[in-house]
Amino acid sequence: MYRPILRQSAKQLSCAARPAAIRGYAAHTTPQQFNWEDPLNSASLLTEEELAISETAEAYCQERMLPRVLQAYRDEHYDKKILEEMGELGLLGATIKGYDCAGVSNVASGLITKAVERVDSGYRSGMSVQSSLVMGGIDEFGTQEQKDKFLPKMAKGKLLGAFGLTEPNHGSDPGSMETTAKPHPTKKGYLSLSGAKTWITNSPIADVLLVWAKYHETGKIRGFLVERSECPPGTLETPPIKNKNGLRASLTGMIQLDECPVPAANMFPDVEGLRGPFTCLNSARFGIAWGTIGALEDCIARTRTYALERKQFKGNPIAKYQLVQKKLADATTDAAFGTLAAIQVGRLKDKGEAAPEMISMIKRQNCDRALFNSRILQEVFGGNAVSDEYGIGRHVANLFVTQTYEGQSDIHSLILGRAITGLQAFV
Ligand SMILES: Cc1cc2nc3c(=O)[nH]c(=O)nc-3n(C[C@H](O)[C@H](O)[C@H](O)COP(=O)(O)OP(=O)(O)OC[C@H]3O[C@@H](n4cnc5c(N)ncnc54)[C@H](O)[C@@H]3O)c2cc1C
Repeated sequence: MYRPILRQSAKQLSCAARPAAIRGYAAHTTPQQFNWEDPLNSASLLTEEELAISETAEAYCQERMLPRVLQAYRDEHYDKKILEEMGELGLLGATIKGYDCAGVSNVASGLITKAVERVDSGYRSGMSVQSSLVMGGIDEFGTQEQKDKFLPKMAKGKLLGAFGLTEPNHGSDPGSMETTAKPHPTKKGYLSLSGAKTWITNSPIADVLLVWAKYHETGKIRGFLVERSECPPGTLETPPIKNKNGLRASLTGMIQLDECPVPAANMFPDVEGLRGPFTCLNSARFGIAWGTIGALEDCIARTRTYALERKQFKGNPIAKYQLVQKKLADATTDAAFGTLAAIQVGRLKDKGEAAPEMISMIKRQNCDRALFNSRILQEVFGGNAVSDEYGIGRHVANLFVTQTYEGQSDIHSLILGRAITGLQAFV
């Protein structure tokens, strides 16, 4: 079994059990030696604790998650136990201080995210929603009672969360949402929530749904913690969205609210407008910037192995051909740059000096480069790329989703363009 991340040291993990990417960390004692798994020696920027956390997360993901993912993806199945396992290791809400959370650095949290997405973006999505979007939101904006009630159980993966912002008619422009919170007509001290949210990760299995809705008194967006167990029949439905062609190892669904009674005490007390959801999204987007590089690194490792083994023309491994080498060189360079940028923003985030535009920049860049390079690397597998056993097609399909959700890349371009020029490109 694995131990919680703060009590686990690097030495406690058997070297044989470690994935190749992790053995690489231990290997480069001489910085001038080129290591294709960490070309710019990003490991030298990490603390001992961060390295140990990364090793624990990578070992768990490679040993426990990887063997499950192919079948889960084929069956479009998400095993709830994964969040419990992560909870036991302290991987959930890892940056939160107190409430049985690990309280680690943002870089450590990024390394966990990278380890999970090296296996599958769907598993990372399930974790990000729990950790960054819901637990992070409660920690940042919740009352003391809300924190005490939800965070310790969520940290253990015993209570699952979902984050409902996107609506069928309002995705990139959530400020135009139609979901409302009005005084409940019959229940004193309750609000009545009505509206529909769509494309919501974890919604079919979530116990607590953080729903963003317009508050009747002000017309401004507020956050509400909807507890499934407290909703009368017919007021909350969370049907799954089936037959996805990406992120199939994670569950996605709708949230349908029909005069759903929610105690006024379950509303976030102070935050209003888009600052609430966007603050949560900032943390999750930071995680996506890390995670997509994990997926890209897995594509690189798989492609390198395949290219060294596959022989074409006079018995040569295709890795010998310059066009194949260029594909690996491009992808490896983007992965290395993406990691360094994520570490830098993580360090700034720890000091409270990360501007949201920095996170837009690394989310957009790392998602775009991971998607672009994974599509190119897929070509190296020839016809075998079409078989799901080679894993690369799964990453490609997943990475399309990561480029789309939490601000599609073009939307992040607009955010950056506005910050660069001082001019609002859209309303
Ligand atoms: C698998 C999955 C899981 C998800 N999980 C969640 C979740 O847990 N919670 C949640 O709230 N949401 C979730 N989402 C929703 C996701 O965040 C939205 O799909 C995303 O924000 C885009 O919104 P949309 O799909 O409505 O696209 P649209 O907003 O309709 O955009 C379509 C295209 O138009 C472009 N576009 C839109 N406006 C402009 C403009 N002004 N200028 C230029 N181009 C523009 C976009 O860039 C995009 O390319 C998830 C989505 C998926 C696919």
